[in-house]
Amino acid sequence: MKLPNSIQNLIAVFEQLPGIGPKTAARLTFYLWQTPNHFVERFAQSLLDLKQKTKQCSICFNLDETDPCSICADSQRDQTLICVVERPLDIIAFERMGDYRGVYHVLGGVINPLEHIGPDELRIQELLDRITKFDNSSHQARVREVILATNPTMEGEATASYIAKKIKELEARIQNPKPIKITRLGQGLPTGADLDYADIWTLKQAWENRRQL
Ligand SMILES: [Zn+2]
Repeated sequence: MKLPNSIQNLIAVFEQLPGIGPKTAARLTFYLWQTPNHFVERFAQSLLDLKQKTKQCSICFNLDETDPCSICADSQRDQTLICVVERPLDIIAFERMGDYRGVYHVLGGVINPLEHIGPDELRIQELLDRITKFDNSSHQARVREVILATNPTMEGEATASYIAKKIKELEARIQNPKPIKITRLGQGLPTGADLDYADIWTLKQAWENRRQL
């Protein structure tokens, strides 16, 4: 027996998602068929809302329903402190810590030659542009610290080193009178673990022990 198109189509869509193989795709499809209509309607509407209502912040590239995002728009937050992360999900992890009052910058990944992701595929230039914005009254860079919080993987470390080098080159070029502090999250985070899975205590430790690059 050949599966009806309506079933086959949904299976094919699920199979496109990361981490979902043909078996799981089929299981999810049959599961959805037997759920109540209101659930399927909410599911479909959530997918549409995700694309239609979610915007990327034009300053930090976080996702929110407003642009600038609620963090960038918050005047209570310290705009001179930028925490650089790989993905928007990492922001959730730092926000859970509760005591960070700076802002963020989402790179959109890490440098990974095997996957053909170079610096130009990430938002590194946008970060440098943010850093070079000068305060006209004090004649120095508005940013005082950049915290490189990419994951403690090989690619995350390499990306952090690359960005640190670029910031230093930039500072030499613009002759910034007061050097920007560049820090990297401290020891304690298990290598290879994603930041968003780290528990708050581990994250706080790594935060407090951040080292200067
Ligand atoms: Zn933002």
